[in-house]
Amino acid sequence: MNFMEKRIIKDGKVKPGNVLKVDSFLNHQMDIDLFDEMGKEWSRRFEGQGVDKILTIEASGIGIACIAARYFHVPLVFAKKSKSINLDGETYVAQVKSFTHGTINNVIVEKKFLSPGENVLLIDDFLANGCALQGLISIVQEAGARVAGIGIAIEKGFQPGGQIIRNMGYKLESLAIIDSMNDETGEIFFRDGNNKKIYSGLEK
Ligand code: 5GP
Repeated sequence: MNFMEKRIIKDGKVKPGNVLKVDSFLNHQMDIDLFDEMGKEWSRRFEGQGVDKILTIEASGIGIACIAARYFHVPLVFAKKSKSINLDGETYVAQVKSFTHGTINNVIVEKKFLSPGENVLLIDDFLANGCALQGLISIVQEAGARVAGIGIAIEKGFQPGGQIIRNMGYKLESLAIIDSMNDETGEIFFRDGNNKKIYSGLEK
């Protein structure tokens, strides 16, 4: 097991509705030593990709992307979620359906913070259906910039986002990929290349 998988087994909680709760180390309380390890791992996996900037989405992406940005020595921009949009032509806007809340948000980035030709690394905490990432990708494209790669903390491999994004040809690096999980037994099954590594939340 890698460090991310170990931490999910130790502190993650499987909830009904295909939701993994990781609020003790990622989504509410934040374990900065873990974030540091994540940043270091992404910098290793995206070495040589010429990353100029990191783009994430508020709120949960900001902490992990901040620490990652220290390893890449590049600025971090976070897309803001907003109900209303300021239609002054100075912002890039994408519509994103929230997996956890089911609502649709506009996500916006000021044009001055993304420039044509920049190599942008996208970072986010979870990948489920891929809506958040597709919103960020469309903003990068609208800016005339390029997606250098995508770093995800936890991919839920049983939901379609990972497949969709890989089929689009992007270099997607998830630190943990969950193949399935069971909210009744607490079991979590990880994917590891072609092999499945199986761990039971009940046997912790
Ligand atoms: P997607 O847009 O890929 O469907 O969902 C990604 C977003 O939904 C992430 O940014 C994350 O905030 C949230 N999310 C999706 N699945 C989970 C989950 O199982 N647990 C938590 N805590 N957040 C999730």
